[in-house]
Amino acid sequence: MSYNPVLQTGHDQSLKRLRPLMLTIAATLALCLAESCAFVAKTVTTGGEQPVLHPVVTTAKAPPAVGTRVIVFCLDGAGYPQLMEAIRSGKAPHIAALLGKEQGNGVFAHGYSAPGVLSVLPSSTVADWAATFTGKPPAENGVPGDEWFDRQHQRFYAPVPITVTDTADFSRMLDSDLVGKQLKVPTLYEQLKRRSYVSMLMIYRGATLLTTVPPSTFAGIVGGLVEGKLAGETALESISKSLDLASTTKLLQAIDEHGLARLQVVYFPGIDLFTHASPDPLNAQVGYLEDYTDQAVGQVLEAYRKLDALSNTYVIFVSDHGHTPTMNDDRHRLGPDDLGSPFATLKAAGFRVRKASLTLSTSEQDYQAVIASQGFMAYVYLADRSTCQAVGQTCDWSRPPRFRQDTMSAVRALYAENQSGLPIPQGKGTIDLIFAREPAEQDEEAEPFKVFDGKRLVPIHRYLERNPRPDLADLEERMKWLGDGPYGGRAGDIVILAKASSTIPIQDRYYFATTMHYSWHGSPDISDSNVPLILALDGGSGAVMQDIVDNVSSGETLSEMDVTPLVLTLIGR
Ligand SMILES: [Zn+2]
Repeated sequence: MSYNPVLQTGHDQSLKRLRPLMLTIAATLALCLAESCAFVAKTVTTGGEQPVLHPVVTTAKAPPAVGTRVIVFCLDGAGYPQLMEAIRSGKAPHIAALLGKEQGNGVFAHGYSAPGVLSVLPSSTVADWAATFTGKPPAENGVPGDEWFDRQHQRFYAPVPITVTDTADFSRMLDSDLVGKQLKVPTLYEQLKRRSYVSMLMIYRGATLLTTVPPSTFAGIVGGLVEGKLAGETALESISKSLDLASTTKLLQAIDEHGLARLQVVYFPGIDLFTHASPDPLNAQVGYLEDYTDQAVGQVLEAYRKLDALSNTYVIFVSDHGHTPTMNDDRHRLGPDDLGSPFATLKAAGFRVRKASLTLSTSEQDYQAVIASQGFMAYVYLADRSTCQAVGQTCDWSRPPRFRQDTMSAVRALYAENQSGLPIPQGKGTIDLIFAREPAEQDEEAEPFKVFDGKRLVPIHRYLERNPRPDLADLEERMKWLGDGPYGGRAGDIVILAKASSTIPIQDRYYFATTMHYSWHGSPDISDSNVPLILALDGGSGAVMQDIVDNVSSGETLSEMDVTPLVLTLIGR
């Protein structure tokens, strides 16, 4: 076990030192508040496989596909540097063998690992996978994060709960296609119009078959962790096997029964969960990729090899985001009930802030501000408060906020609190940037976000000219992807970026969440944003892989959105 120094120490000592990690993992699994953990909730109640309700072309019983195939391995939370370190270490033999000898500049004998590939903003699970499997940014595809507020229907969404604790939307995500129903553009599966199987991923609208893991696996782990029965390697192994390896087993059974698909999507949620909960998160992630992800990948590749199908199957590795280490304490967690959080600041400024809950009672409907979180980023949605001045009065959310009296009033309150620590000392120095914009009329395209410089809103590029921030990768373009389009309003009126840069000391980083973790993500920082995008073909040419990847890129910078055109190109070849 190279990733966790705790495990290399003597037995008694290791158990003692492992305790905080175990408690964190147990709490995470039990409470289901964090990234990925919500899968536990789902898989305890369901599991197995299901044909997707309205598959595009075929049912699972149709004859197996022939022709060029693609497997997309979706490595949740795997940073580009971490995956490359695992591949180069010699401890991820299956992935390394597929790629062959490294030749430099991302080219391997049989594959290409594109450098500098970026996630969309926020660098948070649901928004990133939605962008990856539609090829469109949040402002166009309609899914802006792990949490968001639909002001038109006054509905709070939390497919991955960050500020709320209710996991009902998580269950709906795999049971009744919650995310697919919100997507306003065709998915990759719908564009492909070929047989496609999805293992575990929450974006499956239009796919032929969705497979998930059996419920008993998860029930066993959660029970064991909560009761403290699992220790050391057993705990780590159980988590990985349940979340990732068992998912693989299930999809292999599906292949046995139904034959191969043209597109197979394999989602590994365990990497993200493990990273959040590990005291040395980035090194721990490398170890996890070596020990568990590589093994699961190897099983899938071996199944294709046995069917004599591997040489005709392109393999893609991609992730949704990376991680930035954080302090695992309540001083740095700015959740709904914490002093110094945006919730507290806006309340202190006189806004009636919506309770952090998926659903509200009838007496709680008079809120004037709504906050949704993506970890390091939070969205603020504001009402025109002239429509609901009295306590108990429901705001008219069909109207936009007033720019000066509502939007800028909130912006100035957040800015002043961050500068001065007034009125709440704990809020001082917790925010990096505040973005806002002129409100759009209903059904109008939202304005692009600008940065508040202390006096006024200024275009992002102008702000960056005066205040260079090389740590925030492609900030202006990615904020346009988030806010500038037909569904850009779903990212709110104000976006708050927590102080979270990987270039500042860990004790100066903050996050907007209910759960304390050893790492978070969601920001434009390069540590959260630089994701792997690898294309490989067993026995193929790495130089050819590079050509293919370079030719599909729609913009100057490769992003995870390029996966959709990449798969369409490969299967069309
Ligand atoms: Zn994720």
